[in-house]
Amino acid sequence: MSNDEKDRFGQKLHDVEAARENEWARKRDQELLEKLRAQKNAATCPECEQKLVPDAEHGTGGLVCPERHGAWLSWDTIMKMLDRLSRPERK
Ligand SMILES: [Zn+2]
Repeated sequence: MSNDEKDRFGQKLHDVEAARENEWARKRDQELLEKLRAQKNAATCPECEQKLVPDAEHGTGGLVCPERHGAWLSWDTIMKMLDRLSRPERK
């Protein structure tokens, strides 16, 4: 291998490494962005500021404060609950 070839090979290796680093940086940036977005969208309890968690216990599809200070439910869910409560034959 001539010196010129070695240089070109070295440059190629360098390019491949740079591309890998760029890919890694891009992935990391995207992960950070997604994390930030998730944090921004994460509903928190106004009482204790803890992140609201899915209400698996009642299956409402809503989010509840882990300390049970309150809950966030979709309007649709609230309407269905009110409808169920207003029926005389409720269980
Ligand atoms: Zn709370």
